[in-house]
This record gives sequence, structure tokens and C-alpha cells, in this order.
Amino acid sequence: MVRRTGFDPDGCGRMNSIAENEKSRPNAPPLRRFEAEFLRPYRWPIALGLCGLLVQSVLLLPIPLLQGWVVDRLVGYVRASGGGGTETAVVNPSVVAVARAAAARAIGLALAATIGLHAVRTLLAWRIAAMMGRISQEVVVAMRGALHRKLMRLPMAYFDAQQTGRLMARVTSDVGSILMFIRSGVLQVLNDLISSLAIAVLLAWLEWRLALVALVAVPLYAVNQRVFFGRLRRLSDEIRAQVAALYALLSERISAVRVVRSFAKEDDELDELDRRIDRHRALNWANTRASAALAGLATVISGVGTVFVIAYGIVLVGRGVLTVGELLAIYALVGQLYQPIVRLTQFQATAISTQVSIERLYEIFDEPEPVRDRPGALAIPQPRGAIEYRGVSFAYTPDGARLLCDIDLKIEPGTHLGIVGPSGAGKSTLLALLPRLYDLPDGTDETGRGWGSIHLDGTDVRDLRLADLRRAVALVPQQALLFEGSIRTNLLYANPEATEEQMWDALRIADLAATVAALPAGLDSTVAERGDSLSGGQRQRMALARAIVAQPTVLLLDDCTSSLDAETEARIQQSLERGLPGRTFVIVSHKVSSVRRADHILVLEAGSVVEHGTHDDLIALGGHYAETHRQQTAALTTVE
Ligand code: ATP
Repeated sequence: MVRRTGFDPDGCGRMNSIAENEKSRPNAPPLRRFEAEFLRPYRWPIALGLCGLLVQSVLLLPIPLLQGWVVDRLVGYVRASGGGGTETAVVNPSVVAVARAAAARAIGLALAATIGLHAVRTLLAWRIAAMMGRISQEVVVAMRGALHRKLMRLPMAYFDAQQTGRLMARVTSDVGSILMFIRSGVLQVLNDLISSLAIAVLLAWLEWRLALVALVAVPLYAVNQRVFFGRLRRLSDEIRAQVAALYALLSERISAVRVVRSFAKEDDELDELDRRIDRHRALNWANTRASAALAGLATVISGVGTVFVIAYGIVLVGRGVLTVGELLAIYALVGQLYQPIVRLTQFQATAISTQVSIERLYEIFDEPEPVRDRPGALAIPQPRGAIEYRGVSFAYTPDGARLLCDIDLKIEPGTHLGIVGPSGAGKSTLLALLPRLYDLPDGTDETGRGWGSIHLDGTDVRDLRLADLRRAVALVPQQALLFEGSIRTNLLYANPEATEEQMWDALRIADLAATVAALPAGLDSTVAERGDSLSGGQRQRMALARAIVAQPTVLLLDDCTSSLDAETEARIQQSLERGLPGRTFVIVSHKVSSVRRADHILVLEAGSVVEHGTHDDLIALGGHYAETHRQQTAALTTVE
């Protein structure tokens, strides 16, 4: 069955559940799993196609026999009419007439049968190609869907460690190579195997000694395959990896084209791209050479096998065991026997490359998938917005250093918390833990220290239903990423049920309503990929409006108004308070002006809280916050 795991927009990871998943990881080889999960639903159409192909192959078998039959009739006619070196004293006209009629009948029949057989074969080939084309498309759609769902379920840590381009290569190029294989290869391979067997049996029935001579070539084919297998496998691995590296470079450089241009690095980038393309071409060339050598040797083996068959066949004709026509029929059948075997050899490179692609895709499918909700996870019917961090520590990797150390903090519902601190202090990390973009591990580290817990309205966030948690808590990240589409589709992404009025309200709060209203298409104006058609500040405000449309109880603003001037920022904060009354806000910023209105302010340094209190408390304390305030105010005064 195709796995229908359902769309899941979450990517949180929990270390204990990763271990559980690893235990349940299927051990079957990827090829078998691919067959079971993606091909088996089509087993009946595929079986039908296979039957069709077999009929196609079987229809070929009478043709050599007919040709042999025609040749024997012609030989009979030539002999009857005194030709062919036969010492016939008297040519009997009636015998000649009978032989001529027999030969003419044989030719007519053979011609009609050959045309008829080929017509049926063509019809079958057309139907089978159409059916396999459809099946391969459906398999690819199912595979891409399953991959997409799987990627959506993987933890953030997975994406932190992966280049987007490499993932893209798997979803496009690897799946594409599987598509080609199913469309043009899989049935042909099965058919070739079965039809070679059928021809071998027919040969043995016609003349077992010649069949034995013909089959001597088979072990030679096997040795040939074996010799090339390792090399082709290695080359396929490298080619797939090289394609992924190429995709990675392209996707990175295209998305950062402004950086490339601003450093005038176009030529360097082209050189790098050329180098990778050359490497890819060299590998492909080596692969083509190896496949050609393999196929060439296979053809030589067929040639030698055929020569042996003919030589021994002539001996048998000489002994009167075989007629010339039978020898010719056997010769044609031997050709038909070798053809599929040579084709199988030629197909080996494609089959290996498809196998490599399937294995690479199963590397993604086998990635441990965090359990989304714990058993008995709790719903949040009416979130209030009380947040508590209890002794929270965090490291991005299990053996990495702790970037947050024993953070305790409590935020009452409906209040505002400001967080300031130097770059790299851990402010974004602290926010990302609340909606469980990263999960706090259970248990303790190797030194026996725990990781703490985070609570929403008194419940550990890991015990809540993730979908409910993410509805209650909205995070507006530092980098405002928008999707290609209209302003409307971007806003509806956060809340598909949002009304027109709610969307305009959100835009008003984000101080973007006037800008959108002035656009000719209003809400339906297009936002380009990555939102490049908007200014940095407009993008940030769009991302904020999108979060507001979701009507969260807790809004986490991760330095998301950094591109705005202090006046606009203050206006937006006031609108937020008015437009979303009673909500809990956490505002991360480098600017003291962004957090000074907060009910409580934390100063974070190197993952620890070093100061906390209200703006006035912290100014009075005369510590880091007061110093930052002094410097920022002085800088503003100097600018003015
Ligand atoms: P800034 O003000 O510059 O945004 P920040 O205070 O928000 O910084 P974080 O983004 O939380 O700091 O980063 C804290 C530390 O964690 C940094 O040393 C950073 O290198 C590291 N870090 C951040 N994200 C990841 C990640 N996905 N994987 C590994 N380390 C990370």
C-alpha cells in the first residue's frame, strides 16, 4: 500500500521517540519495500501488462518456424525443378507444379501470418506503453507525495543539517529516474527473462543438442555482468551524489543571487558550476563507456554463440538430422534468445542507477520521525497564555554545548515580556522552544543534569497536542519568509477561515493596510517567491500580519520589526496591544526602544539570564541594559 501518512506541517523532534522509531525501522531492502509500498497497488494492471508482453513475445516465435517452413518448401521446389545441384534425370512437370504450388502457398501463408502477428504485436505494444505510462506517473505522484509528507514530519534538526538543493535533487532527479525505469524498463526486464526461458524450451524441443550449444553463452553473460557490476554501481552512486551537489550549488546561488552580484562573483560562480558540470559529465562518460563495454562484450558473446550453433547445425544438416529450413528457424530463434539477454545486459546500468535512486529515497523515508503527539496528549480548548520556563537548558545536538543554561521565567497571561541581549545569546532559541520547533529532551545529560521543562497554562508543552499548541502560540521569525502567491493566499495560509475583514484588520495592525489598499489588485496583488517584490520592512509587516490573522493567544516576535524605524515600530506595538487585547507578547530585540514598554524585561547573555525587571528597574540597576540604553540613546542623539 502507498503510505498515506497525512499532511503534517510540524517538524519537531523528540529524542526518546527517535529511538522508538529506529527500533521499528523496517529491515527489508529498499527495493523490496519500494515494490511493496508503491508498485503493489498496481500489481493486477502490471500482471496484465506482463501477460500482454508475453503474448507479444510468443507471437514472435512462429515467425522463424514459418520462415524455416517456407525455405523447406522452396528447397523442395528447387529440387523438383532440377536445380540445387540435384542429379535429377527427368523433371516431372506435375511434381514441379505441386512443389511450386506448395512453395507459393507457404510464402502466401507466411506473409499473411507475419503481417497479422506483427499487427497484433503493435496493438499490444501500444496498449501496454500507454498503461505503463499512466502507472509510472501515478507511482511518481504517490512517491513525491509520500516524500513531501515525510519531509514535513522530519525534525528541524534534519533540515539544519541538509542542503535544500540536495533534498530537491532527491525529490526531482531521483524520482525522475525511477519514473523512467517503470515506464520503459520494468516490464521489459520481466518479459525478457520469461521469453528467453520460453525460447530456450522451444529450442530444446526442436533440437536439444543445438539448444545446449546455444546456452553455453549464458554463463559467459553472467561472468560479464559480474565483472562490470561493481564499477557501474560505484559510478551510479557518484553520479547521483554529483547531481545532488549540482542542485545544491544552483539552488543556493540562485536564492542568493543578490549576494553573488554584490560581490561581483558571477564569473567565479560560473567557474564553480562548470567544474561541477565537468565532473558530472566525466562520471557520465565513464558510466557510458562501462555500459558500452558491457553491452559490446555481450554482443561478442552472442556472435560467438551463434557461430557455434550454425557450425554444429551444418554438421547436423549434413547428417540429415535437420533440414535447411529447420536450421534457419533455429538460427533465428537463437537470435531471439540472445536479444533479450543482451538487452538485459544493456539495461544493467539503468537498473543499477534506479536502484541507487530508490536507496537514496529510502534514506529519507528511514529518517527517524519524531512522534507528533504523546499518547493522551491534551487539547487546549481555551488557552490563557500563561508561560513558564522551569530550569530550561538546551543544546542543538545531543553532544553539543548547552546554549541555554537553567532558564527560569514566568509570564502572566496578557502581559508583555521583552528579551534583549547580544547576538548569539540564545534569544531566538529560547523562543523556538515554546512552540516546540525544537523539543527539550527528556531525562538528563551524561553529567546527570536535566533539561527542564516549558509550560503553557501549567501544562508541559510536550504533553499538549501539537496542532493546538501551534494554534495558541504564533512565532514571527527574524527572517520574514513569504510564499509565492497573493497577499491573500499568504494571509490565509495562517488561517484558511479568516474573513476579508480579519485580513484587513491584521494588515491595519501591522501598519500595512494603506500600502496594500494602494496596490491595484489590493489583497490579490502578487508576492514573488521569497517576497522579493516587497521591501524588507513590508515583508516583515506582512509576516506579522500573517501571524495576527491566526489570532494566537501568545505572540512571539523574534526581532521581526528590525527593519522598521522606531516610530513605525512603536505604532505597530500600540496597535498590537489594542488589536489583540489580553494576549501574551514576547518581544525579542536588539533595540532597547522595542522592549521598554514591556511589563518585564530579560537580559540574556551566553544563554543565561543576567538581569531582569522593568525598564525603570534595569536602568536603576545600571548594568548591561542601562549601558545598552545609554549607548543607543547617545547614538540616536548623535544621528539627530
Ligand atoms: P541574534 O540576536 O543574532 O539573532 P540570538 O540571541 O537570537 O542571536 P540564537 O539564534 O538563539 O541567538 O543562537 C544562539 C546560539 O545557537 C548561536 O551560537 C548559534 O550559533 C546557535 N544556533 C542557532 N541556531 C542553531 C541551529 N539550528 N543549529 C545549531 N546551532 C544553532
